[in-house]
Amino acid sequence: MLVVGGGTMGAGIALVGARAGFQVELVEPQTGARERGREYLQREASRLEATAALDLIEWIERVPLRSDAALAVEAVPERFELKREVFMALAESLSKDALLASNTSSLSIDELADVTPHPERVLGLHFFNPAPRMELVEIVRGDQTSDEAAQRAVAIVARFGKTAVFAADTPGFIVNRVARPYYLQALRALERGVASAAELDGLARGAGFRMGPFELMDLIGLDVNLATSESVYQRTGAKRLAPVELQREMVAQGLLGKKSGAGFYQYSNGRAQRFEPKADAEGGDAGGELIAILGFGGVADELGEALGSANAEIARIENDEFIDQLSPDATVVIDVGDGSSDRREMLEEIDAALGPDSVIFADAYATDLAACAAHLRHPERLVGYGILGSLDGQQAVEIVDGEDVSDDALELAQEIFALAGKATVLVEDRPGLFLGRTVGSVVNEAMFAIAEHVATPEDIDTAMRLGANYPSGPVTWGREIGGARVARILSRLAEAEGEEFAPHRSLWVLDLEAAQPEEA
Ligand code: NAD
Repeated sequence: MLVVGGGTMGAGIALVGARAGFQVELVEPQTGARERGREYLQREASRLEATAALDLIEWIERVPLRSDAALAVEAVPERFELKREVFMALAESLSKDALLASNTSSLSIDELADVTPHPERVLGLHFFNPAPRMELVEIVRGDQTSDEAAQRAVAIVARFGKTAVFAADTPGFIVNRVARPYYLQALRALERGVASAAELDGLARGAGFRMGPFELMDLIGLDVNLATSESVYQRTGAKRLAPVELQREMVAQGLLGKKSGAGFYQYSNGRAQRFEPKADAEGGDAGGELIAILGFGGVADELGEALGSANAEIARIENDEFIDQLSPDATVVIDVGDGSSDRREMLEEIDAALGPDSVIFADAYATDLAACAAHLRHPERLVGYGILGSLDGQQAVEIVDGEDVSDDALELAQEIFALAGKATVLVEDRPGLFLGRTVGSVVNEAMFAIAEHVATPEDIDTAMRLGANYPSGPVTWGREIGGARVARILSRLAEAEGEEFAPHRSLWVLDLEAAQPEEA
């Protein structure tokens, strides 16, 4: 196996090959880079207790005139002209049966294949950083890549001990594309003052992401992250993926994240101050307060159970028709609804049925609560909350600090969710709040990718779990939240911020059928 480029990725890929038993030649023309690469390999190999594999790696200075390697992986800097030269040299050097792979993140495999006389054996093997530790490899098939070459790539990735997914030769492939809205929509939420970067990161981690979007951008480098966004946007032309001004300004000011000492966080004394939304471990006791839960489904069940265990008296009303059973004395009425439809009329009925001291909690992802409050007798008692898919899947619940809501009602919301074992984060009333906007847009991007034949739903889910450490694949997550619910959240976002954020039409039927690619 021949690896070209001994930087971060190339050295990592060489170690992956050596650990799988390949004899590896690693091409790196620069002395300094070779030294750094050797040190990197020592560190990585010791960490993985794989130092024996280092004996299989031989550093060389240029692509040999003749090589009998069965596979070459190119990992030189991301410039087409440079990669083109390397591919021409590889095509000369290796036998015509050898696979020629590029680790490019953003260039077209088809265009690289075109510079070689045998384009059918050219493909992308897109590793993730750090290559020795990340389990995913995207196999990128160009238009001309043969089935035979693709199958050989599958076998090689398996021998590497990694998981392969197939991606079409499209901008960002799977991971770098489907992850865009995680960053872009988080930036939009920050621009709109939904909450601070630290609070939003806390919400994201609470929903199972290994890192929040802002700490992740700080780690990647805001400039590097922006460059990927710019590239995917330019090549897709999709307005929903347009880079966000706030990030451009930060990059222009040199706020690049960890490497520059400041980004969304300050790194002056090493570690940035993180915000951990934490629930009260004590739990507490509801002292027999009456809590009515309206609606059905997982979240209603989870709330009923959690609050019941905290010694609340729970009254469940699973059907809107039985609203007359609602006791006017309930301390709190939680309107879960069906999670996907407008609850304005129902909220008016609840408001009319209740005594003046009762408080109403309503789902703020799918319903415009400010518009609802305007029709209530007691708008100050309406508190918006955000539970996206399940209570279990969220350590922290978003609570809307709306215009009308009273401090007492907000405080009660924080207490009640604490009884259910949840932390709360106060957010401004914007469509989709934070998790609805970001997770919903990631799910939506997966729908676009499926429709555009980028990959299968299964491969998209696998890629996002293994390549981006998402807690759940976006297609599966979308089904858990409910496709229609995601669509409704995004429709509200589109109404407020532009048609380009509208839900893909397949979301409305995600709950009914498998996501389908569209007819060509
Ligand atoms: P890098 O700059 O760390 O390493 C590139 C190396 O290639 C350098 O050491 C350079 O001296 C060497 N090089 C330059 N010209 C060469 C030539 N003609 N022949 C041989 N070596 C040459 O870059 P990197 O981060 O390792 O990225 C390499 C490729 O991998 C890029 O295409 C990038 O888009 C892709 N990629 C990077 C990441 C990442 O997170 N860094 C992830 C996936 C893919």
